[in-house]
Amino acid sequence: MVPLSGQINTVISYINCVEVGNSTMAKKAKQIDVDPKMCKGCHICIFVCPHGVLKKADVVDNRGFFLPVVADLDACVVCRLCEMECPDFAISVVEE
Ligand code: SF4
Ligand code: SF4
Repeated sequence: MVPLSGQINTVISYINCVEVGNSTMAKKAKQIDVDPKMCKGCHICIFVCPHGVLKKADVVDNRGFFLPVVADLDACVVCRLCEMECPDFAISVVEE
C-alpha cells in the first residue's frame, strides 16, 4: 500500500508539471534509466505514467523479469510519477 504522504507528493508533483499560472511548463526528458539490479518488473511505473511513455519489455531479463522500457520518450513531461511510485527506487528520469 502506498503511504498517504507519497500520494500527496504525487498529486502535487503532477499539478506542478501540468500548469503554473497561465504558462504551461514544457519539460522534456533526455533519458529514462531503469536499474536492472533494482527493478523487479512490477510495472507500477508503467501503470502510473499518464502519457504512455513506458511499456513492458518484449523479453525477460536474466532473472525472468519483464523490465520496463521506454516506448515514447518525447511524450515524457518529467512529472516523475514513475520515480515516486517505484517501490524500489529503480527508475530515474533525466531532464533535458
Ligand atoms: S516500478 Fe520500479 S521496480 Fe516496478 S517495474 Fe517500474 S522500475 Fe521496476
Ligand atoms: S516522468 Fe515518468 S510518469 Fe512522468 S511522463 Fe515521464 S515516464 Fe511518465
